[in-house]
Amino acid sequence: MFVKMKIYLDNAATTRVADEVIKAMLPYFRLYYGNPSSLHTKGHEAKEALEKSRKILAKSINAKQEEIIFTSGGSESNNLAIKGIAYALQHKGDEIFVSSIEHPSVLEAARSLVKKGFVVKELPVDSEGLIKIDELERLISSRTILVSVMHANNEIGTIQPIKEIAKICKEKDIIFHTDAVQSFTKVGIDVKKIKADLISFSAHKIHGPKGVGALFIRQGTKIERQIDGGSQEKKLRAGTENVPGIVGFAKAVQLAKKSYIKKMEKLRDMLIDSVLASIENCRLNGSRKERLCNNANFSFIGVEGEAIGTYLNSYGIYTSTGSACSQLTLKPSHVLKAIGLKPEEWQGSLRMTLSRYTTKEEISYVLEILPKVVKRLRRISSFKF
Ligand SMILES: *Cc1c(COP(=O)(O)O)cnc(C)c1O
Repeated sequence: MFVKMKIYLDNAATTRVADEVIKAMLPYFRLYYGNPSSLHTKGHEAKEALEKSRKILAKSINAKQEEIIFTSGGSESNNLAIKGIAYALQHKGDEIFVSSIEHPSVLEAARSLVKKGFVVKELPVDSEGLIKIDELERLISSRTILVSVMHANNEIGTIQPIKEIAKICKEKDIIFHTDAVQSFTKVGIDVKKIKADLISFSAHKIHGPKGVGALFIRQGTKIERQIDGGSQEKKLRAGTENVPGIVGFAKAVQLAKKSYIKKMEKLRDMLIDSVLASIENCRLNGSRKERLCNNANFSFIGVEGEAIGTYLNSYGIYTSTGSACSQLTLKPSHVLKAIGLKPEEWQGSLRMTLSRYTTKEEISYVLEILPKVVKRLRRISSFKF
C-alpha cells in the first residue's frame, strides 16, 4: 500500500525548530520577559540570559564573549559586516571583493555601496564553485579594504578554503568577512585558527528560531553600526534584544553534535551515489569533496527542476530548485550560472538538503520515487538527447 510520508529536504532554506529549543525559549515569553536594559530584577533576569547565550555562542567558535553581536538574522549580520566595514574604512580605500556566489544579503549589500562611491568586484569561481585563491591574491590592491567569501554555499554546498583566504587578507591588512550561516555547526570554526575578522550566523538554519542571528566581530575591528538608536549590543546594533530568540539560538548551538554530521554525510552519500548510478544524464553540482554534509544538488538534463519539484511535492517530498530567495523568478540562479552550467543543466536542477532528523527510510523512499519522476517527465519532454 502506498503510504504518503512527509519528507522535508529543504533544510538549507530553513530547519525545524528543535523541541528542546522551544522548551528553552518558553520561560522567556512567560516569566522572564523583562527588557535586558531595565535596572530591576525582571531586567536582570533577561540580561543574564542574554549574556549566558552570548557566552555559549562565543565558546562554540573559540571567541570572546565581547566579540559576539546579536542581530535579527543572517541577512542583517551580512549587511552590518559589509556596510559597517565599508563606511568605517572608507578613508583607507574604496575597493571591496565578494565572491560571485554569495547569498543575496552579501551581494546586494555590496552592490548597494557602488552608488556610494565604492568599487565592488565579484570574484569568479571554478566549475565546482571554489574561488581561485591565486586570482584573489593577484587582484587585491592597496585600495582593497574588504573581502567577503562565504564559508559554505547555500545552493551547491561547496565549502571554501576560508582559512587560506583569511591568511592572505591578514597579511595584506585587509578585513575578511565570511558568511557561515550554512556551515555553522556542520563545519568547525575556531577563530583562533581561522583569522576572519567578521563571521555571520543565523539561528533558523541550525534548528533555532527565525529572526535571530549573530555577527562575530574580532576585537579591535572598526565598524559602523547600521541600525541607529539605543546603546544595545555595544552600540553596534540598536533595538531591544530578542531574548527568547537568542536563548533559543544558544540552545540550538548546544544541541549540535559531531555525530549528526557523520549521520548526514552517510545519508547524503547514499543519496548522491544512488541518484548518479540510477538516473541517466544527470550531474552533481558543486564539489564532491569540499561539500557540506547535508547538501545534494543535481541537474537532470532534459527535465525542468520545477516540474520534478512539483511532482515530488505531490508525493510529500519537499525540495528546492535553486535558492529559496530566487525562486520567484525563472532566471537561472546566480550560483548555477557562476559555475558555468548550460541552460539545459540549470533548468533541470534540484536541491535536496538534509538535517539531523532525516532518516534512511526517507532517503530510500526518495530514491524509489525520484527516478520514476524523472523518467516520466523525460518521456513527455520534447528535449532530445
Ligand atoms: C539563509 C542564509 C542567509 C540569510 O539568513 P537569514 O537569517 O534568513 O536572514 C545568509 N546567508 C546564507 C548562506 C544563508 O543560507
